Amino acid sequence: MRQPHLTNLEATPLHADFIPSLQQPTQQILWIGCSDSCFQETKILDLLPDEMMVHRNMGNMIIDGDLSCETTVKHAVSDLNVRHIVVCGHYGCGIVKSESRDGLQGPWSSKLDSLHSMHKHTIDQLPCSEHDNAFVKLNVLDQLRSLRRFPEVARAAKTGSLQLHGIVYDTKTGTASRLLEES
Ligand SMILES: [Zn+2]
Repeated sequence: MRQPHLTNLEATPLHADFIPSLQQPTQQILWIGCSDSCFQETKILDLLPDEMMVHRNMGNMIIDGDLSCETTVKHAVSDLNVRHIVVCGHYGCGIVKSESRDGLQGPWSSKLDSLHSMHKHTIDQLPCSEHDNAFVKLNVLDQLRSLRRFPEVARAAKTGSLQLHGIVYDTKTGTASRLLEES
């Protein structure tokens, strides 16, 4: 019997041409990544540097009231007319862990705690060694839901001029997987 929510964790390998390069200096992607990453995960796509606008924060999260993130998203969608928003999490994240918050407080901690409570049943069914990676995936999917609450994002996505993608980067292999949102 299929367990609830487990389809959320399915992922497919992501290839370098997943988003084709325009071969011109036009910002077509807003990439939302984690600030504690010490790797070059933005280079998994074969794009010119000018094609990507990067916003980083702790845990690649969309937090209500985060003026920097909100302004970036609105500018990217309404003014730059980006075609894609990528939310990229990574395994081994120091922020997004299934249990410990390492003293993290405030809205970041609250959102992660809430997400954990919501999906505790799913996580508990997995081997302990997979809990953190599963939570990284769930967090990315949750941020996609938060992004879709921006009126600008919802409008552009509805017309097909904007696509949202959830990606998880494996720091050990240097590869990435694409997450599948529930329809
Ligand atoms: Zn991280």
